[in-house]
Amino acid sequence: MKRTRTKIVATLGPASSSEEVISKLFDAGVDIFRMNFSHGEPDDHRKLHAYIRKVEKQKQRPIAILADLQGPKLRLGVFEDGTITLKAGQKYQFDMEPEPGNHHRAPLPHKEIFAAVSTDDQILINDGRMRFQVTKSHDRKMQVIALTSGTLSNRKGVNLPGAHLPISALTAKDRKDLRLALELGVDWIALSFVQGPEDVADLRKIVKKQAGIIAKLEKPLAITHLDAILDLADAVMVARGDLGVEMPPEAVPVLQKEIIAKARRKGAPVIVATQMLESMIDNPAPTRAEASDVATAVYDGTDAVMLSGETAVGDYPVQAVSMMEKIISSVERSSSWRSLLAASKREPENTTADAVMAAAHLAAETINAPVIVTYTSSGSTAFRAARERPFERIIGMTPNDHTARRLALVWGITSCLTEDAQDMDDMVRKAVKTVKREGIAERHDRIVVTAGIPFGSPGKTNLVRIVRVD
Ligand code: PEP
Repeated sequence: MKRTRTKIVATLGPASSSEEVISKLFDAGVDIFRMNFSHGEPDDHRKLHAYIRKVEKQKQRPIAILADLQGPKLRLGVFEDGTITLKAGQKYQFDMEPEPGNHHRAPLPHKEIFAAVSTDDQILINDGRMRFQVTKSHDRKMQVIALTSGTLSNRKGVNLPGAHLPISALTAKDRKDLRLALELGVDWIALSFVQGPEDVADLRKIVKKQAGIIAKLEKPLAITHLDAILDLADAVMVARGDLGVEMPPEAVPVLQKEIIAKARRKGAPVIVATQMLESMIDNPAPTRAEASDVATAVYDGTDAVMLSGETAVGDYPVQAVSMMEKIISSVERSSSWRSLLAASKREPENTTADAVMAAAHLAAETINAPVIVTYTSSGSTAFRAARERPFERIIGMTPNDHTARRLALVWGITSCLTEDAQDMDDMVRKAVKTVKREGIAERHDRIVVTAGIPFGSPGKTNLVRIVRVD
């Protein structure tokens, strides 16, 4: 039985690319493993995928795998001497010429940038450490002034806050990586540098229903189009790394709260990512501020919190997960969290599934049921159960292993594989057996069960039943 409602995503990398570490990370509290396609070769991803599925088999728990596509990450070219130093106020040039850069110019091999920028736009390099203002732009070159002093070096990342680049969020590399991810059968695909709903629609055409789609919110334009993106994506990620470069740091906490609130209203899972326990890359304990950051996301009701460098390249990957789990548990035991949860309940929408879930939630509260058991085929009913954010546990019972794994990302859900119920008695029998096995309910407890009749027909949730555990 999953101890916390808030889920943990851990990014795999050199510090965690073995079956042994993956198994330890799972034991420490990981629900979703993230394979970062910005790094590694296809064979590395195949290996990681096989390790995770092996651990899943050993632990007999559905585990979700998230393939994070790199997206159109913009980068500088290279320099004659590898690096150069510039002073604030210095004039400089970026252009499409292939020659290595020097003190006067540097190659920026993305023609779309030159078409998209105009005078006074800012160009940010190396996570915003170097800032330039455009003074003149042409088809294949632009003149700029350095706004900060510092260095430029080979292949540093480039951000253009505000500019709409006429490029798809799916590059040729992403399409290749996506083919592999779908062939492996991953559960979630994350799309980087989404600018608008059309990016999600393009991905959907390829992915169809084979995996859930997570739109990474890391560009100001994605925030502008958040409602339309939430209409098309299955989940979103507050990708604070790039978001905090493209927008001022003081904007990030406000956006984080607004994104979580909007996603929760929609019933779309939301992940808060990046720098959550950053100092644990090098240290066995986090800063107090980092612990507080994780707690804030949990109080806001995020579905999941994510570790990146901490588990991918850090010295303390397992400790970072344990620490995250302890912080989440500590918040979820507090009375302040429980009252916030009750106060932040969303109004049901005008659908049968929401009516059933609202009724199940109210019934569970009224009779002090420890758990709501939801039969779900595609997982959508379980998503709606989680949208209610009930204090009671939610068990998602499904015959579909893709659904069981996908639900690992969703707030509060423990997913269990089961065969379809044959009839009402069978439904009750299976639910009771599961809650007893999971240790959530005891003899004489009453539990709430939801299902769809006729059994086994997706999208037909229409029944709430109260059952006494025998
Ligand atoms: C981020 O920018 O916060 C993020 C999660 O994306 P990536 O790690 O792929 O840069």
